[in-house]
Amino acid sequence: MAQGAKPGEGGQLPGHKVDENIARVRRSTPGVGLISPPPHHDIYSIEDLAQLIHDLKNVNPKARVSVKLVSEVGVGTVAAGVSKARADHVTISGFEGGTGASPLTSLTHAGSPWEIGLAETQQTLVLNGLRGRIAVQVDGGLRTGRDVAIGALLGADEFGFATAPLIAAGCIMMRKCHLNTCPVGVATQDPVLRKRFTGQPEHVINYFFFVAEELREIMARLGFRTLGEMTGRVDRLNMHRALDHWKAGGVDLTKLLHQMPARPGVAICNSERQDHGLDKALDHLLIEAAQPALDNNQPVRIEQPVTNVNRTVGAMLSGEVARRTGHAGLPDGTISVKLTGTAGQSFGAFLARGVSIELAGDANDYVGKGLSGGRVVVRQPKGCTRDPLHNIIVGNTVLYGAIAGEAYFEGVAGERFAVRNSGAVCVVEGTGDHGCEYMTGGVVVVLGDTGRNFAAGMSGGVAYVYDPNARFDVLCNPAMVDLEKVGPADTLATEDPGRPRQRAHDVEDSGMGDVLRFDAERLRILVERHHLHTGSARARELLEDWGNALKGFVKVMPRDYKRALLQAQERATAKAVAAE
Ligand code: SF4
Repeated sequence: MAQGAKPGEGGQLPGHKVDENIARVRRSTPGVGLISPPPHHDIYSIEDLAQLIHDLKNVNPKARVSVKLVSEVGVGTVAAGVSKARADHVTISGFEGGTGASPLTSLTHAGSPWEIGLAETQQTLVLNGLRGRIAVQVDGGLRTGRDVAIGALLGADEFGFATAPLIAAGCIMMRKCHLNTCPVGVATQDPVLRKRFTGQPEHVINYFFFVAEELREIMARLGFRTLGEMTGRVDRLNMHRALDHWKAGGVDLTKLLHQMPARPGVAICNSERQDHGLDKALDHLLIEAAQPALDNNQPVRIEQPVTNVNRTVGAMLSGEVARRTGHAGLPDGTISVKLTGTAGQSFGAFLARGVSIELAGDANDYVGKGLSGGRVVVRQPKGCTRDPLHNIIVGNTVLYGAIAGEAYFEGVAGERFAVRNSGAVCVVEGTGDHGCEYMTGGVVVVLGDTGRNFAAGMSGGVAYVYDPNARFDVLCNPAMVDLEKVGPADTLATEDPGRPRQRAHDVEDSGMGDVLRFDAERLRILVERHHLHTGSARARELLEDWGNALKGFVKVMPRDYKRALLQAQERATAKAVAAE
């Protein structure tokens, strides 16, 4: 819930630091700045957080899901919510520590000492009987064995170290991490500076030996054999020496050092596991039916009704695909699932390549969250007479953080559609406010109306909006994007009619130059595929008079992205000329 050392402020990676490697990892374009927005757009409440934890456990049931909170007044209440939301682990992060890249306001004003947040967390969790089911970690400036001993007595099960081992590895705290000029080669992409890095794993190992040695001495003095025996034993903290010091005169630590009275059956350290309710997942049925595909790549077709108690449909199945094949996935459409009804939240989350889910009905929030190469189709049931251009068919925050794959929605999506999309291609018949916010890649086609603040913080990817009545320019946030005509229209004339239509994500994968060259062609392919998968009347209407329809589309093009694409094209041309 915090951006590490930058709680509530987010982070910015300037374009000049985004090299090929960073762009590949972040699924962006070299030279284009990256924004980490301050909020998480899928979390506005504890219920949203519970849903995200459920999604993550579905896609990887073996993972421990951890939530990091900033130590401050009231953190105990939030930690209680995190425990109820079924996180396996909560980290209380103190105000110290943090990298030189953190904004000064964060470094100097955010958070409180970890001791205060940890004490409040331990007391609140024990008071509400929530402590046993969650592991508590503390970090933010831990350096010595003494820090670990105090942390354990105040109630931590685990301890996080960052700055101190970094210093053991060579960091000299010049605080220039954001400038690419780290003089000791730790936080820089500059190959010359990187050569100066002299750190060895043994330096860090030695450091931790000393931490452990000091801790063992303290434990021996206190009479504890294991850390487990120490957890939550605030009564063994001796505060008198500190309180007798003249600087501490008037400081009252009673509340901080309050020992929760022992109650039978109420744990004061992590002793149980969270119940994530995974046994109820619809995906168990899907995985069973998909065994031939998982074991031998044999295509399977599954038909199944769905209701809104079925959350995160498709994620556990995709986790199974990913475990066997990694991100490469299965051949397109190997596992085809057809569902009817109203799907619960996070329908098609993290869908892997080769898994295709089609729903005749509607779905809640977070459809296609983290889409990873699969295909999600939501269309109106046959015989439905609602006008798709005015019918909400999927909820809010659809395709949040999608990295690859396709999605087609025969209807309108809620707010924050395709927020932080970095690679998926999709077609929708209308969106609410904040569409394509913080998008860094992929293609979005909107065949109807959009809400306000479209494309805010959009640094990559392209959106096409059908806007025959020229109303879109007041709805679009122009801070980072330009509105252009789709074209050139004669691109279509160069199209080889005999050439098979490419798959939508092949268009995106086929090289950055195509983003600029095959604009109109790409748009047409996407509208055709939308019609193919959903039978959309609007798509049919546009395709029947494509020449005129094309004139009604507006292209939303991020400025820096276009500049980076043009520069990449120039470099490629220069390289080709030099090779000749
Ligand atoms: S030495 Fe390098 S890693 Fe350490 S604070 Fe300075 S710039 Fe950052």
